[in-house]
Amino acid sequence: MYYYETHLHTAPASGCARWSAADAVRYFKAAGYAGIFITNHFLDDDIPELRALPYAQQIELYFADYEEGLRAGREVGLAVFSGVELSYKKTDFLIYGLSKEWYLAHPEIDGMAVKDFLALAQREGALVIHAHPFREAGSIDHIRLYPRSVHGVEIYNANRSAFENEMAQNYARNYGLLPFAGSDIHGKESHGQRGGMCCETPITDEQDFVKKVLAGEMETFHKELKPFVK
Ligand SMILES: [Zn+2]
Ligand SMILES: [Zn+2]
Repeated sequence: MYYYETHLHTAPASGCARWSAADAVRYFKAAGYAGIFITNHFLDDDIPELRALPYAQQIELYFADYEEGLRAGREVGLAVFSGVELSYKKTDFLIYGLSKEWYLAHPEIDGMAVKDFLALAQREGALVIHAHPFREAGSIDHIRLYPRSVHGVEIYNANRSAFENEMAQNYARNYGLLPFAGSDIHGKESHGQRGGMCCETPITDEQDFVKKVLAGEMETFHKELKPFVK
């Protein structure tokens, strides 16, 4: 089986992350993974100095973490892919299959209504997943669901409670949405719970991943690993 981390944050692209893309690559290589998807918070409003820059420069800086991961991955032999975590008032979506070139060519997405962005991403061939749909936190005013705008749902997120994950499982099952899993790892989490997607044949690129997930050729997994120690 080939194991992939699908939900991973790195610094500096994600304001909340506490490790670099190269650290993340070394960690998942040592854990026996075949690859990782770097899914930083897209144009993170929590980094105002980034948001003050021209759009193209924001995209370059956003993808710099992925590019660092790609270089580190080539050195150690770990596949590194890009993804995006899009946030609308703390309701989060993972988007896979759109390249840096695509984002550079679509400046109109900055400020676009989230529903329109999700529809556009799907039309452009991307995979759209609702991350931790039942997450609750002081900063979240209410739970928002978009059952007609996503392909799938994180039914297991290693950073959420058993109850939140169980609600996500019920939601996915009742609406016939694809099951998906990830860790939402930001660095030195003290717990070792990890989630992700696995398959019998290795993923070749982001499009191959999208195709395999949509075809139901990938399975969710949940495992316990040693936490990251620098
Ligand atoms: Zn975060
Ligand atoms: Zn996340």
